[in-house]
Amino acid sequence: MNETGRVIIHDLHSHTSASDGVLSPDALVQRAVDMRVNVLAITDHDTVAGIAPARQAIADANLPLQLVSGVEISTLWENIEIHVVGLNIEETHPQITHLLRAQSERRQQRAVLIAERLDKAKIPGALEGAMRHAQGGEITRGHFARFLVEEKRANSIADVFKKYLAKGKTGYVAPQWCTIQQAIDVIHQAGGQAVLAHPARYGLSAKWLKRLLAYFSECGGDAMEVAQCQQAPNERTLLASYARQFNLLASQGSDFHQPCAWIELGRKLWLPAGVEPVWLRWANCP
Ligand code: AMP
Ligand code: MN
Ligand code: MN
Ligand code: MN
Repeated sequence: MNETGRVIIHDLHSHTSASDGVLSPDALVQRAVDMRVNVLAITDHDTVAGIAPARQAIADANLPLQLVSGVEISTLWENIEIHVVGLNIEETHPQITHLLRAQSERRQQRAVLIAERLDKAKIPGALEGAMRHAQGGEITRGHFARFLVEEKRANSIADVFKKYLAKGKTGYVAPQWCTIQQAIDVIHQAGGQAVLAHPARYGLSAKWLKRLLAYFSECGGDAMEVAQCQQAPNERTLLASYARQFNLLASQGSDFHQPCAWIELGRKLWLPAGVEPVWLRWANCP
């Protein structure tokens, strides 16, 4: 709630067609308004290309939505892929532009290697197929997944990952992402806050998750995601207790990629008592 007693809905993690989201920036901001979201962060994988068109769409239609310019940076820590969200970044800052350009090249190189591996496994045309789904956006495994479902290699995106794209499977290529420290530093240089994305989704034991959180905090990380719309029972409470333990602010976001039955913009997003919301530190906190 804000000082007038109105409930403000923050959704601080979402994707557009600039990476592996299905909706265009225009359609995403319109949907956020329809879902009664007040503050939306667009956090595409290693790109900020969706921000300017979203801002323009909000201005053109005079939408009642505060846009937070964000990004989700892929990093490697202990050989595990960890995602770091940047919130309120100056998205044209030279340092962030430089890092995202390098990440984009890594994505393109990895895409070629993924397609080569699939080709060897008698699945031709994967690069062209994935690029068709990416429509000029930043290429991700999500686009390969859509191609493989289209080719009837699996029944669902989740199945494709299990069968082809997860670590150790036929189409998996070890990525070359930047480090957590590099991602945090660049987000700070661009004036933003660094948030550890979806901590419970890395498949880490409690011991390793705590090790990650301690490291993220030591590196100067500001916050961690505590609330998502789909979480195991007690996960939110546990993550909130970790946020306190490791001195991190708390964030929340749907990680919306496309309209579907179980994940929606703004849905079930609230923070347990005892954590400090990441947005309370913003100069323009609504
Ligand atoms: P990338 O950053 O190119 O490795 O692609 C990662 C993206 O693939 C994630 O952001 C998700 O959108 C999607 N993804 C990863 N693992 C899964 C999974 N098991 N099921 C469905 N989507 C997944
Ligand atoms: Mn994604
Ligand atoms: Mn992620
Ligand atoms: Mn995401």
